[in-house]
Amino acid sequence: MSAQQISARLAASSPRRGLVTGGACLALALAFASLSAQQNVQPTKFARAPMVQPPPQGEVEVLQVRGNLYAIFGAGGNITASVGPDGVLLVDAGAPAMTDKVIAAVTRLQREWAVRNTPKPLGFGAETRSSVADRHIPAPVKPIRYIIDTHADPEHYGGNEKLRNAGRTFTGGNVAGDIRDSTEGAAILAHENVLKRLTSGAEAASIPSDMLPTDTYYVDYYKLSQFFNGEGVQLIHAPAAHSDGDSMVYFRGTDVFALGDLMDTDHYPEIEVDRGGSINGILDALNKVLEMSFAEFRLEGGTMMVPGHGRLVDSGDVAYYRDMLTIIRDRVQDLRGKGRTLAEVKAARPTADYDTEYAAARGLSSTDGFVEAVYRSLEGGGVKAAR
Ligand SMILES: [Zn+2]
Repeated sequence: MSAQQISARLAASSPRRGLVTGGACLALALAFASLSAQQNVQPTKFARAPMVQPPPQGEVEVLQVRGNLYAIFGAGGNITASVGPDGVLLVDAGAPAMTDKVIAAVTRLQREWAVRNTPKPLGFGAETRSSVADRHIPAPVKPIRYIIDTHADPEHYGGNEKLRNAGRTFTGGNVAGDIRDSTEGAAILAHENVLKRLTSGAEAASIPSDMLPTDTYYVDYYKLSQFFNGEGVQLIHAPAAHSDGDSMVYFRGTDVFALGDLMDTDHYPEIEVDRGGSINGILDALNKVLEMSFAEFRLEGGTMMVPGHGRLVDSGDVAYYRDMLTIIRDRVQDLRGKGRTLAEVKAARPTADYDTEYAAARGLSSTDGFVEAVYRSLEGGGVKAAR
């Protein structure tokens, strides 16, 4: 074969070679894309909110919601935990009797995270290889940095003191030198009215100072000043809802809400009218959550919510709960408008068709309490007269 023939053949085959090379590049790109997708936040693994059985009495149960976010059930009120490279952030602290078990569960999550993120050996790097990475020594786990109190009920803030002292503050700038000060525990964030309640209410004298919020906000919302475990965390004030100091916490990257006592999947919400709570405030808050939520498909999956009590839910569950409360609110409002007294409204049983689902565990007397709270909060006008 002459040189001319060889070059002619090469020219003829080059488009095919180019195709083959292009195909290999595409395959590589796809492989990298799927690899990096695995490292990023994934769509929820739940086709819908899972129906998990409640843990046995006196035990806590941990459920991974998505990515670095976990729900801890059985600690009094539910706890939402973000566990990752920056340490631990907890929404609510559970009841004091359960705190040791909560700390054990959090420690286990921290260790699991450390094992999953053990540095890999660098391969054939010879003298540039890191001996620390090579020996597979996991980085020390980062402590509890933040506790967020959604409101001032003991089954939600009761674990504050022990959890705070098990952690360390997360800070920087000119106070960075204080980080290792062992007397400085985790920061406790809450709406200002939670601090007011815990320092001026009847129980104030029995609450030690380490149980109190260290940082409060008084406007509509509060944002952590920087990403925590790879995402923005926002506290949203729900005025006049369960009480006057409720915060919902939104994890913007993993797309998860911690709702506090705005929702309880097994019961009607507790509305503390004497502490500034109202039915319309709860409805406003749930509507706000629905405004900000996305369903993955036909109201299933997508944005997930950890309610203060009960199981993990998605926006379909929140919409159902909101509808149920709206219907009951409208019935009570209607009866009130017709001049019925509270006793007459109770006797009319405006919750009857929902009682098997939301009152069975507490008996009928708690339904009376709920109807009374709805009635009284409408008397005061609530946040908005009607929606
Ligand atoms: Zn509660």
